[in-house]
Amino acid sequence: MINQERLWDRLMKLAHIGKQESGGITRLSFTAEERAAKDLVKSFMLEAGLTVWEDAVGNLIGRKEGRNPDAPVVLVGSHIDSVYNGGNFDGPLGVLAGVEVLQTMNEQGVVTEHPIEVIAFTDEEGARFSYGMIGSRGIAGRLERSELEHKDKQGVSIAEAMRQAGLNPDEIGSAVRPRGSVKAYVELHIEQGKVLESRNLSVGVVSGLAGPLWLKFVLEGEAGHAGTTPMSLRQDPLAAAAQIMLAIERESAKTGTTVGTVGQIQVSPGGINIIPGRVEFSLDLRDVSEAVRDEVEQAIREQAERICRERGVGLCIELLQRIAPVPCSEEIQAAAKQACAALGFEPFTLPSGAGHDCMQLVDLCPVGMIFARSKDGISHNPAEFSSKEDCADSANVLYQTVLQLAVQL
Ligand SMILES: [Zn+2]
Repeated sequence: MINQERLWDRLMKLAHIGKQESGGITRLSFTAEERAAKDLVKSFMLEAGLTVWEDAVGNLIGRKEGRNPDAPVVLVGSHIDSVYNGGNFDGPLGVLAGVEVLQTMNEQGVVTEHPIEVIAFTDEEGARFSYGMIGSRGIAGRLERSELEHKDKQGVSIAEAMRQAGLNPDEIGSAVRPRGSVKAYVELHIEQGKVLESRNLSVGVVSGLAGPLWLKFVLEGEAGHAGTTPMSLRQDPLAAAAQIMLAIERESAKTGTTVGTVGQIQVSPGGINIIPGRVEFSLDLRDVSEAVRDEVEQAIREQAERICRERGVGLCIELLQRIAPVPCSEEIQAAAKQACAALGFEPFTLPSGAGHDCMQLVDLCPVGMIFARSKDGISHNPAEFSSKEDCADSANVLYQTVLQLAVQL
């Protein structure tokens, strides 16, 4: 069993770095706060007896050797960057639980066939450059040099920020892991939802990750005087948008698994006494099944076209991104479920609605995830919380899962 107090103590120590007056955490990539966080985690990795280094995209890695150093590595980890004013657990739990798992193995003299590495990925959240998962893209060979031109609010590009952090953006290719060199990637993460809590479970096994589809709806009508234009003579794009949003809600709810969210809207000209002339709004649509998600998308598109046609409003739907859902590896799910059962937990599986680093690694290796219960499902918020016991339960499941995957001798 892992050391529950040590894991908690480290989580609380890391929580001081990037602490805001509001109580939240802001740790953006390639900043002094991120550097301080990495240095602290590095000190934990050294305490755990690991060999520690940073790769060319700034991923921090600690390695425990296997009996066969040339065997493919079992990778565990997560990220230690945060969103603006985020919480203490999203990311750090997976990294620190990984360190704890390896430290426990070292203390107990556990030898495995495969080497095991714990990794703290660079910039998972994408809060600084609106371009996330930089570290996992980097090891998967999915990061092009041209992508490093994304800029933050101050106009600093990823490449410039990397240079300021002592990294050479022209060297990112050296971080790429060769195909066949990684046996599995397993990430422990907080659920960021209420499913485990609603079932009174401390830990769950992830079946797959929902792929987000992002659309932008642009509706063009006719702006006009709110007082002098009768209702019958209006082509109001906002009224049409409202109707489309209800269709989105209805169609998403129908499947039982799809989630559809309109989170951004712009109305112009935006006067209290002006009928809007143009409306733009976003749609985030997700499901763990690509087929189901795409059927819902089709239904929404058809209804939006009909609504706009009937109202004489112009419609253009722009595709912002279409990410395929990622199923978790059957082998890793089986190992994690066996670990749950061995520890006396119900081997419960659930999908992940949020995206995680493992989505970038699917072409590199089998991927899997373990979720820890989130209090009230709150995340990306200072109130984010998972109890000491839930962190320990899920870390113990990670421990047993990794022992199986790395083949304990
Ligand atoms: Zn996260």
